Amino acid sequence: ISKTEGVRYSFFNQDTQSSIEQRYQLESHLVDALNNQELYLNYQPLVCLKTHRILGAEALLRWHNPVLGQVPPDKFINLAEHNGQIIEIGNFVLHSALAQAAHWQALQQSDFRIAINISPLQFRAPNFAEHIADLLTLYQLPTTSLELEITEGILLQDEHLAHDSIKKLQAQGIRISLDDFGTGYSSLSYLQKYSFNTLKIDRCFITNLEKNEQDRELTRAIIAMGKKLNLHVIAEGVETQEQDRFIQSEDCDYGQGYLYGKPTSADEFESNYLTE
Ligand code: C2E
Ligand code: CA
Ligand code: CA
Ligand code: CA
Repeated sequence: ISKTEGVRYSFFNQDTQSSIEQRYQLESHLVDALNNQELYLNYQPLVCLKTHRILGAEALLRWHNPVLGQVPPDKFINLAEHNGQIIEIGNFVLHSALAQAAHWQALQQSDFRIAINISPLQFRAPNFAEHIADLLTLYQLPTTSLELEITEGILLQDEHLAHDSIKKLQAQGIRISLDDFGTGYSSLSYLQKYSFNTLKIDRCFITNLEKNEQDRELTRAIIAMGKKLNLHVIAEGVETQEQDRFIQSEDCDYGQGYLYGKPTSADEFESNYLTE
């Protein structure tokens, strides 16, 4: 007994204990976050590199809790996926982002693209494609205004279901973009199996472009491959003029990053980018 207890004790160190406590604390607050109206969206501009105009925004979820303060999505979205709350939270994101996009589309009197992140559990829900179609009708948005960003987590689980959902959504005119491209285990095989509309090159390729020759080559190759496959290509995490110049010279279609604009509240987005 003493031996096993010793082993257990050495595993159960301070670090894991505090991270377990932290997790419980997060989870217990997260349960009420939606009801207490602690969740809201920020919007980050998507820029057309040819014209340098803003063609739309990516909606990014934010959580402000009175006790915990601001909690980043990387810290709570996986929790919400584990306890199933992501369905409800994801619906909140869809409703808010689509209502906002409808408002901006009317304001601009031109196309406004809204990109929304979809988690695997949401995507696998029965009738997901129909649900999205209903929401677009509800908010009177053209299907071509919506781009759903998915990651390989969605494609990993059930190939047939993912394939059907993607096809159904695309048949309606909704775009599907493969997020965080290049970071997964088998990004290339997903390009072979599914048809996407857009590739989002992960920030990790962009961050060190100036310093790292290998990153330049990889970025160049990903853009060229995307174009050959008739996909639109977005570079994420563009922070410097040099990175912007590089992706432009490689004929990348769109850019997103602090250089063009950080994620901001809806009000700020509107006054910064949409009104004269
Ligand atoms: P993502 O979808 O890859 O979103 C891009 C992340 O990069 C965002 O982090 C954004 O703030 C950050 N970013 C954008 N430009 C720059 C830049 O130039 N430099 C740097 N350093 N960062 C930049 P954020 O908002 O913290 O979101 C993290 C992740 O959380 C997202 O990664 C996405 O996977 C997830 N997420 C956010 N909102 C939602 C949501 O509504 N639903 C779901 N399922 N996931 C979401
Ligand atoms: Ca995304
Ligand atoms: Ca991404
Ligand atoms: Ca990411």
